[in-house]
Amino acid sequence: MRKKYFVNTYGCQMNVHESEKIAGILKARGLCSAEKIEDADVIVYNSCCIRATAEQRIYGHLSKVKKLKESRPDLIAVLCGCMPQKPDALRPLKKRFPYIDVIIGTHNLNLLGEYLDKIEDEREGGVGHYEIWESERAVCEVPVLRNNSLSAFVNIIEGCDNFCSYCIVPYVKGRERSRPAAAILDEVRGLIGRGFKEITLLGQNVNSYRDGGTSFADLLRRLNGLGGGDFGDGGGGSGGLNESGTNGRFKLKFMTSHPKDLSEEVIKVIAEGDNLAKCIHLPVQSGSSRILRLMNRPYTREYYIDLIKLIRKYMPSAGLSSDLMVGFPSESEEDFLDSLRLVEEVRFNNLYTFIYNRRSGTKADLMEGQVDEKVKIERIEKMIKVQFAIGAEDAGKCVGQVFEVLCERAEKGFIYGKSWEDRPVYFKGRKELIGKFVKVRVASSKNTKLFGEILD
Ligand code: SAH
Ligand code: SF4
Repeated sequence: MRKKYFVNTYGCQMNVHESEKIAGILKARGLCSAEKIEDADVIVYNSCCIRATAEQRIYGHLSKVKKLKESRPDLIAVLCGCMPQKPDALRPLKKRFPYIDVIIGTHNLNLLGEYLDKIEDEREGGVGHYEIWESERAVCEVPVLRNNSLSAFVNIIEGCDNFCSYCIVPYVKGRERSRPAAAILDEVRGLIGRGFKEITLLGQNVNSYRDGGTSFADLLRRLNGLGGGDFGDGGGGSGGLNESGTNGRFKLKFMTSHPKDLSEEVIKVIAEGDNLAKCIHLPVQSGSSRILRLMNRPYTREYYIDLIKLIRKYMPSAGLSSDLMVGFPSESEEDFLDSLRLVEEVRFNNLYTFIYNRRSGTKADLMEGQVDEKVKIERIEKMIKVQFAIGAEDAGKCVGQVFEVLCERAEKGFIYGKSWEDRPVYFKGRKELIGKFVKVRVASSKNTKLFGEILD
């Protein structure tokens, strides 16, 4: 019988995509996916360490492996990803979880298959395989196994060189390296050819993409050219044959952008590209220029607000979302109010709020003036309340408007999809519409959700 695997994923979309690679590697070695963790012969924990809460959750799940192994001694447990890649993390992890068979980091994930072979050879002696590479190698092409046939993640750049003072990512993902443009174009061409309708380009800072003479703006232009370019047909594209040899329209999104690198050229390309979603996720982190400086985010509050204005100049109804942190060391009430006022001024469609969390090894962890947890909670609660009202009010203004929506799935008697501006839209319709672009007139809203009727 074929062996089965089960992958547990923690953290960001990049990790979700890494897990698709893990599945691809395991499938290429003849394993198939298990429906339940209890049925698996190989269990993989693809970990995250961005905040302590993520780590606590993973520790909890790892401690359950001991029990699983009591009844299934052949079970192989793998811990990979960001948590073991943290400097000096391997030894304490091995000590705390001696029953985990393979521990690897982010830089050698592509060798998972080889490590599993070694484990099977070594089993008799009961030794595990533990290996962390201190630094990254060039971007490596590995097979990807996607569960979904409509939306796909595609890596374009790995690592991060920004070293924001609070963030562990540069220490666990290594230096920035761009994937060759030809490989990206090939992958996206193949995905569109297989009927995928939504592609999300991934990277910690997609705007610093560069492959020889190809910048991020060039890459977007070339990818845009792979799809049909006829807007307004509402039925999945009727444009002539394009560079990919298909006539399908598709929606291209990307994340994440760093405000310091988002150029006017990129904004223009997005505004003009028929296949480029009119939405940008642009993490601000704080509305106080003093805190931004301490965060090592090299822009000011004013620069950020001007950038938003520039985006809206080219795309007045662009969907804008952001990440914002409260309670960074030395954040005063006035700094926090600056963040609150920025949120009120910009009016994001969506805001992801975080409580600053100390990460050892980062500069901010050593800073004076760590903020009291109670104060942090009060601040985040205020921030969430303000954003909630903005989101709901803004959605209310969409009533009567028509949005083009990519139908993603059936949900509670509705068809759900997102507009080009990344607005969530629900309407009554047939399941056959899934995967199609349709026009919907908004009749009502609830929080940020829009409800409407499909137009013929
Ligand atoms: N590369 C992306 C974000 C990656 S991490 C960017 O620069 O925007 C995702 C989000 O987690 C960050 O935007 C930040 O808001 C949050 N984050 C990162 N480190 C954190 C920490 N130590 N405490 C709390 N939130 C953190
Ligand atoms: Fe972390 Fe900053 Fe890099 Fe984003 S840009 S991953 S927040 S260091």
